[in-house]
Amino acid sequence: MKLMHSCAEVSRLLSKALDEPLGLLDRGLLQVHLSMCGSCRDVDEQLRELHGMTQDLFATEEAGEPEPAAPGAANGGSPRGS
Ligand SMILES: [Zn+2]
Repeated sequence: MKLMHSCAEVSRLLSKALDEPLGLLDRGLLQVHLSMCGSCRDVDEQLRELHGMTQDLFATEEAGEPEPAAPGAANGGSPRGS
């Protein structure tokens, strides 16, 4: 049984991790590999940076339409109030 991923597998997992949650085993193996492999840490950082930029784009788009903070929810929507 192989405990270490190769760098190629790790970079594939890293980009996959941005799209979908990884399994516990994959995440554990990634952590182990990243703790020992500086070049894969670089790849990880670059991917996160890239991903963060695209997320910022989406976030800015969504921020254009602020969600109303549940109007009337505080008093149960009752018109009588007190
Ligand atoms: Zn590596």
